[in-house]
Amino acid sequence: MSYVEEVYQNLEKKHPNEPEFLEAAKRILESLNPIVEKNEELYRKNALLERFVEPERIVTFRVPWTDDKGVNHINLGYRVQFNSAIGPYKGGLRFHPSVNQSILKFLGMEQILKNSLTGLPIGGGKGGSDFDPHGKSDAEVMRFCQSFMTELFKYIGKDEDVPAGDIGVGGREIGFLYGQYKRITNLYEGVLTGKGLAYGGSLARPEATGFGLVYMTDEMLKGAGKELKGKTVVVSGAGNVAQYAIKKAAELGAKCVTASDSNGYVYDPNGINFDVLCQIKQVERGRISEYAKRVPGSVYHDGEKPWGEKCDIALPCATQNEIDGDDAKKLIANGCWCVAEGANMPSTESAIDTYEEARVKSGFLFMPAKAANAGGVAVSALEMSQNSERLSWTFEEVDSKLHDIMVNIYKNVSDAAERYGHAGDFVTGANIAGFEKVSDAMLSQGMV
Ligand code: NDP
Repeated sequence: MSYVEEVYQNLEKKHPNEPEFLEAAKRILESLNPIVEKNEELYRKNALLERFVEPERIVTFRVPWTDDKGVNHINLGYRVQFNSAIGPYKGGLRFHPSVNQSILKFLGMEQILKNSLTGLPIGGGKGGSDFDPHGKSDAEVMRFCQSFMTELFKYIGKDEDVPAGDIGVGGREIGFLYGQYKRITNLYEGVLTGKGLAYGGSLARPEATGFGLVYMTDEMLKGAGKELKGKTVVVSGAGNVAQYAIKKAAELGAKCVTASDSNGYVYDPNGINFDVLCQIKQVERGRISEYAKRVPGSVYHDGEKPWGEKCDIALPCATQNEIDGDDAKKLIANGCWCVAEGANMPSTESAIDTYEEARVKSGFLFMPAKAANAGGVAVSALEMSQNSERLSWTFEEVDSKLHDIMVNIYKNVSDAAERYGHAGDFVTGANIAGFEKVSDAMLSQGMV
């Protein structure tokens, strides 16, 4: 039995009730096989994989809070401090009823590799609660956040663990969490990222994930001897990532012909108008169907996904599992030859298998989320640097650093894939490139 199989089987025995985590660990371990085989003796001697798959620490706590009617509630709070080999734990807090330890461990493990890929000194973590902010008043959300931080503050710090937002945790929640941390500790420090500009946030953070996705796509195309200019792009989503991906793609000369929300998608043959999209989504918080009413020539497709439209490139920027195997086949049949993931896990396993077949057959380009959407966490790390310096960089400074980081990630992913005999396979390349730095640091630091 291979070392990877051995470690995975033990993991299955230890954590039989964590299906999401086991699935992610299996996929990651399998893709690390080429590097593990090369270094098996060293890794075994240092129990490297056994340590890599177990979080350094998991904190679980109860979060008591009282709603506006005076009724008391208890939610569960978690922080998975997965790996600090290359820097303080860093990863989002998710508030959603589906949150449990298995999901947070899965997200935390992915985060270790994504953070390592940025080249910045940030370790991997993830946390959150099964609290559902939907339908709660601002006062209820504030009381919940204060109670959550009253326990969490013991385990985090600017050089220890720096959480950020994720699903259900946006600017409002980060503000409440930060206020409570400051109140309890009496410290004004960069303990959270995604903060408002007035209290330590970074310029270009809202743009970072979408812009970074397009910088990565541009670089991947250059690597294949192509260019973004003049290409037709299909985008899903109409939120933060989609909006800024559409903006940057247009600036670089491509045309994004779709945007979507959970009701349907809009097709605009002239390219989605960023200002109209932002007016509808950021200002009015309306539905994407509005777009077709305002922009002549555009068409709204109710209840459908955009993957049937003719395109060169697809940028899924909405949600998990939004491209299944059939969607992937449809994309390819309609001329698509490149997918870069803005959302986390938008492609199902079967979609990824379809891309891989197309890659082997005809050079299909696929960049997984871990590398393609790392611009968000990269600028979060730049927010930490600015907080430590007690300085704020200009938009241009942050954007230019983001661009360099994305170019560098592409180079490292592509080089790692090539060095381990998987040239062009960026899934393997991303996992190995992320793992190389973490494993080097873990080996240097001894059995900790
Ligand atoms: P937003 O909430 O701003 O936008 C999400 C968009 O996706 C909305 O338009 C939403 O539509 C749409 N959507 C949600 N569910 C579905 C669905 N089932 N079918 C079709 N559309 C859907 O989120 P973000 O843009 O911030 O995040 C998008 C993705 O990118 C997520 O996977 C997130 O984890 C990932 N990501 C985000 C980062 C960031 O910095 N923001 C960083 C890294 C990853 P509706 O309004 O109808 O709900």
